[in-house]
Amino acid sequence: MKKIVMYVLILVIITFIIPFFFTKVKVESNSLIIQTVESNEENKEPNDNSNVDTTPYNYKEYNTIKLLHTKTNTIEELPLDEYLYGVVSAEMPADFDIEALKAQSIVARTYTIYKILANQSKHGEAHICDDSKCCQAWITKEDRLARWDEDKRESNWNKIVFAVNETKGKIITYEGKPINAFFHSNSGGATEAPVDVWGGSGYPYLQTVQTAGEEGYTQYSSEAEFSREEFVSKIKEKYSDFSINFDEENCIQIIEYTSGGRIKTIKIGNHNLSGVEVRTILGLKSANFSVEIGEKVRFKVTGYGHGVGMSQTGADSLAKQGYNCEDIIKHFYIGVEIVSY
Ligand SMILES: [Zn+2]
Repeated sequence: MKKIVMYVLILVIITFIIPFFFTKVKVESNSLIIQTVESNEENKEPNDNSNVDTTPYNYKEYNTIKLLHTKTNTIEELPLDEYLYGVVSAEMPADFDIEALKAQSIVARTYTIYKILANQSKHGEAHICDDSKCCQAWITKEDRLARWDEDKRESNWNKIVFAVNETKGKIITYEGKPINAFFHSNSGGATEAPVDVWGGSGYPYLQTVQTAGEEGYTQYSSEAEFSREEFVSKIKEKYSDFSINFDEENCIQIIEYTSGGRIKTIKIGNHNLSGVEVRTILGLKSANFSVEIGEKVRFKVTGYGHGVGMSQTGADSLAKQGYNCEDIIKHFYIGVEIVSY
């Protein structure tokens, strides 16, 4: 009898429990890849600010948030600050300056509150999701610790917790309303107006600003190259009538730049494309690029991300120049206040 119970137990472990662990680990490591690659990114349309009912804004009301785990499609309710530990630690390297981490905490809190207030039922019952391509990245403490070197785990985690706690309740407002606090990895030296990324208007606090010191980070420059055939076939996926004669001078020609120095319009063969479109089609790290045609079509890319709002490496660079977290925020978002609730 005992033997039978043992066999059943082993069978249960093999068929259910072990595969469960493997699936979990696999899913989470995938999600981390997405999280660390892009920040507060891409195919998001900005929400219309006017829909945001923010009066009276009571921070205590948002003490807990409902987070959608996109991989498992489950909703978890957790305290806001605890959620923010997972966001800040997923979105910004822990070795960045403490003032940059504090700025990131305020930005992430603002972004979250804005999402709650602007809730367009995008995620049903949940306020926000853990996908950086949709809302903002989030990671569990357990996973976060596992990805740091053992001797850094405790100090890194404490630094993140300190950044969030030190800024407790603080959010960024414009004319008394929480802002849509976009952020990205590296501006390449100048941030971008949202109109040049998504079109539309209505964000007076999001304008082009210059930041010194961005070039010192690995996110600043990258390259991508494509064989001529590959290049043509990628564009053809979007424009089936696309054609280009590489022997023609000016077969690729930049027509116009944005206020932030990215490509606004570029003529490629028989089509005019926006820089953002080219970025999406070819998977470039930003819309700030130059093109060279040789055997291959080669792109030199500056900066990382859509370029709107706070640049994370810019925040770190400013912190190292002596800016505190509020100075950093006011550098990237024009005419805003930082309020405490
Ligand atoms: Zn989302």
